[in-house]
Amino acid sequence: MYFTAGPAELYPRFEEYLQEFVDEQLGSISHRSGQFKKIYQHTDEQLRALLSIPEENAIMFTGSASEIWEKSIQSLVEFESFHLVNGSFSEKYYQYSQALGRQADALNKPMGEGFSYGEITVPEYAELICVTQNETSTGVQTREADIHKLKRSHRNKLMAVDMVSSAPIPELDFSLIDSAFFSVQKSFGLPAGLGVWIANEKCLKKAKQLKSKGNSLGAHHDLPSLWKNAKNYQNPATPNVMGIFLLGKVAEDMNKTGLEAIRKQTDEKAKMIYKFFEKKDGYEVFVKNPDHRSKTVAVINTERPSSEIINHLKTKNMIVGAGYGPGKDSQIRVSNFIANTPEQIEALLNEIEKF
Ligand SMILES: *Cc1c(COP(=O)(O)O)cnc(C)c1O
Repeated sequence: MYFTAGPAELYPRFEEYLQEFVDEQLGSISHRSGQFKKIYQHTDEQLRALLSIPEENAIMFTGSASEIWEKSIQSLVEFESFHLVNGSFSEKYYQYSQALGRQADALNKPMGEGFSYGEITVPEYAELICVTQNETSTGVQTREADIHKLKRSHRNKLMAVDMVSSAPIPELDFSLIDSAFFSVQKSFGLPAGLGVWIANEKCLKKAKQLKSKGNSLGAHHDLPSLWKNAKNYQNPATPNVMGIFLLGKVAEDMNKTGLEAIRKQTDEKAKMIYKFFEKKDGYEVFVKNPDHRSKTVAVINTERPSSEIINHLKTKNMIVGAGYGPGKDSQIRVSNFIANTPEQIEALLNEIEKF
């Protein structure tokens, strides 16, 4: 059982869907064929239904989420971006903007702390506000209401939301959020190698403006070319057909269960995890403010070296992650993804209780 923050425990029906992919020889079909377009369309429709994504928006596929960090800066920022930084992933998004020669501004918070709307001042000339909804390195979330308020008070700026390690759990309003993205090896429970980029027409307009002024959007699949292809259920190059196929199947499954039920179960499991560690001697929930605790990745301080706990759990066939960066030896990270069933979480907590 994998309680890692990604790659993670696989979706229960992954093997069945993979077998279907093999049986139908989909690994050999042309990515320009009608058969492929049907696969893309199915995944597009299932994701749209799952996340309530408006018709106008495009759903585009890349190789990873970090690729979308780069592309979103290249296509949406001429001069200046603004980042909420409170851990390693939000920091990297900020560094991508710097590396691309943009002026990147950041509001920084210490590890383990989150952002609330009232304390955020966005620089006047920032074109893109970059928010990491779930900071995987520290187990900190930014609540949807805060993200929505931030966007509403800056309607003339674009907003990009990194929801890589929480999608589809956050209830983001896609009629408001300009751009959001995730990859599939976290809460969708699939093998890595596919990034999903959702963007609205304001993003497309901005990218076209930059291009028409002579700015480079990068050579590899800029937003306008991904957009144009996506609207025809295509990709500029040969995409990860297997990943797109599997994502469509898993999203369809989630639609059948109902996202509301999935969100409720995620909340209940998260409560179980945090309640356990709040009471357990030798452990401490890293994120002090309950409102800022991630629903999908719990970071726990450990009194003894985290490797002792991780190694013990390994003997019970349970794989738990170490802390990220500076927290490596003194923290564990426990995923609470959709594929982590209540029974698995219970079994893990029982094992830690006994240890
Ligand atoms: C994992 C992760 C990424 C990077 O995703 P890749 O698919 O590995 O590129 C970006 N942001 C967050 C918050 C993540 O957890």
